[in-house]
Amino acid sequence: MEPLLRIEDLQVNFHTTQGVAQAVCGVNYHIDPGEVLGVVGESGSGKSVTALAVLGLVPHPGRIAGGRIRYRERDLLNLPAKELRKVRGDRISMIFQEPMISLNPAFTIENQLTEALRTHRSISKQEARNRAVEMLAMVDIPDPAKRIRDYPHHLSGGMRQRVMIAEALLLDPDVLLADEPTTALDVTVQASVLDLMRRLNERIGTAIMLITHNLGVVAESAKRVVVMYCGRVVEQGAVGEIFGNAAHPYTRGLLKSIPRPGGSELYEMKGIVPSILELPQGCPFHPRCPQAMPRCVREQPPWRELAAEHHALCWLYE
Ligand code: SF4
Repeated sequence: MEPLLRIEDLQVNFHTTQGVAQAVCGVNYHIDPGEVLGVVGESGSGKSVTALAVLGLVPHPGRIAGGRIRYRERDLLNLPAKELRKVRGDRISMIFQEPMISLNPAFTIENQLTEALRTHRSISKQEARNRAVEMLAMVDIPDPAKRIRDYPHHLSGGMRQRVMIAEALLLDPDVLLADEPTTALDVTVQASVLDLMRRLNERIGTAIMLITHNLGVVAESAKRVVVMYCGRVVEQGAVGEIFGNAAHPYTRGLLKSIPRPGGSELYEMKGIVPSILELPQGCPFHPRCPQAMPRCVREQPPWRELAAEHHALCWLYE
């Protein structure tokens, strides 16, 4: 199967007064049509910047310094701005951790959903309203024909997140980039929003890139997992491989940090993610790695294939 979206050797730099920081450094991964891909890593790992690069939305002072982002054989990095705008929101859409970033508090849900539809499709106001009500029903908003007249502040956090998912899926996009979509929600609401995304993926076939700092979140949702650290992909593979046979010490640390019912004391990975302005030489994980060797301090590790579609960036597999 041809990948729907392929990120190749992506480099994103941030030009700051203290120097140039490599926020994303040679990232490669892809997403297949209709799949759910988990992209995992702590804050500062480059997972969100990579997603923003897909949409041409890298914030100032970031700049894409190299690589390709192929969507259906078109390189998004070379598309004229007008063409990219057509892809963004229509074929590839994004939802964020905080719904109020996307929802305008000054307009009703109806205004916002119908405007998004009418910007991209030539349909009447009534058709747009019908479609918006249908989408609100699909994301389990009770009494959607009535709630569509609400303003965002009338809704709970979980309901706002559902409205944002409805808005992102209004145009039947091929890919939904979901950046920490449940982090700001209560645990019980998190589970229902994740369940909703899974059901929508099965029902309408939109591929979902689920970006999260929590490996537990992707356990039941994703087919494959990409693990990022300091702007690099350090491991990727099928969910079963990553959860049953994690190879990279960072992935193992993340797995040990997942709380389990009746489990032993939680593992705490030592140290913190270094600033991208002061990345250590060699393997950027070496100051925190329980298996670091002298070579790890001097040389960047190679990308190694461990099994079919299971790769890790680590000297342990040389
Ligand atoms: Fe640890 Fe070395 Fe592997 Fe880096 S390359 S993760 S420091 S063992």
